[in-house]
Amino acid sequence: MSDCLFCKIITGDIPADIIYQDDKILIFKDINPKADVHLLMIPKAHIESLVQLNESHNDLIAYMMLKLPELANDQGLNSGFRTIINTGRDGGQEVFHLHIHLLGGQNLPGF
Ligand code: 5GP
Ligand code: ZN
Repeated sequence: MSDCLFCKIITGDIPADIIYQDDKILIFKDINPKADVHLLMIPKAHIESLVQLNESHNDLIAYMMLKLPELANDQGLNSGFRTIINTGRDGGQEVFHLHIHLLGGQNLPGF
């Protein structure tokens, strides 16, 4: 998707503070952190949101879910963390490339 911000981060056209990547996913720091730790995990494939997922994505979604606690542990979040997926305009989604927020640390705001 040529006009997708997160696809441009994947290709390197827009810089980001990258924490981890492999053939399936990219993890980078949110540019406007809402907590001490605020990372975004995205699939390298352009998928707009949860609504676009189907059974062909089962392995990818399982992979992402299993990666989250590993990532949180690597970030030193030993006593817990929060994950958020905003979906659609009314769900507060601003970037239409599926992403999972990982938030943690002492300054985690109330929900
Ligand atoms: P959403 O509201 O779509 O769930 O979250 C989008 C997130 O992307 C926001 O937390 C926002 O701060 C982050 N973001 C927007 N533009 C950029 C950018 O250019 N670089 C990075 N690293 N994060 C961004
Ligand atoms: Zn994209």
